[in-house]
Amino acid sequence: MTHAERRAALEAIADEVRACTRCRLHRSRTNAVPGEGHPDTEVVFVGEGPGFNEDRLGRPFVGRAGDLLVKLLGSIDWRRDEVYITNVVKCRPPDNRDPQPDEIAACQPYLRRQLEALDPALIVTLGRHSMGRFMPGARISDAHGTVRPADPATGARDASVYALYHPAAALRTPAIERASYEDVAGVPAALEASRARRARAAVNPRAAEPAADVFAATTAAPGAATEPRGVALAVDARPVTRPDPATHPVSPTVPPPRPPDPSPMVPSPVDPDDQLGLF
Ligand code: SF4
Repeated sequence: MTHAERRAALEAIADEVRACTRCRLHRSRTNAVPGEGHPDTEVVFVGEGPGFNEDRLGRPFVGRAGDLLVKLLGSIDWRRDEVYITNVVKCRPPDNRDPQPDEIAACQPYLRRQLEALDPALIVTLGRHSMGRFMPGARISDAHGTVRPADPATGARDASVYALYHPAAALRTPAIERASYEDVAGVPAALEASRARRARAAVNPRAAEPAADVFAATTAAPGAATEPRGVALAVDARPVTRPDPATHPVSPTVPPPRPPDPSPMVPSPVDPDDQLGLF
């Protein structure tokens, strides 16, 4: 799919989301929040659902949780406009309650189609509800900072899934904030591993190794939930390197590596109307 085709597909989905009445959440929304980001990115971040600020502006992660997400990305030298950011449900549940199963089911086709269009190498889940869509049965306290193969039924045909705590949870709890910085440090290496596996599979699908072998290095041992999970940034991995076949027949040069910025976060009170962030 070319850049233009991918952009058009994402815009068509967004237009449908803004007019959607498939579930009861359309009645209380101010704006639907389809998602936003770089159409050629290899990395998609998936939260749970819009909060007060997101509903007001129609954009994902624009409140305090969004500010922390930007800082987490900055710690690995990434920017939010280099990735795609969306949610499991596209309309704000009233009073920031959990989305109901029928609401998640009604909205699921939009996320699936977004993932089909983006064809990411890596999906990063934010919080336990998003993680539950991609790692069924996993507990966030065990799975944060770990990576698994994505079920192609999610729409991501050959992706890995990396679990992070929701930034709103990190704002509430300093220990989770520290863990989030450790966990996000492993995201570039997970992208590199998934990218390399996809490249090998593209050349010789029958010789591609089982996905689980690739993920062993970044998957924590059972029972190590309180230990640091992040994998040291051994290689530079930017989230946007996919060439547009219409304009770039040759892969672009990867920028030289830069060390992550370990600048500490200062805990602060959470706006209860901020982006949904259950953990
Ligand atoms: S949450 Fe999803 S399914 Fe429900 S109205 Fe919004 S876009 Fe439609």
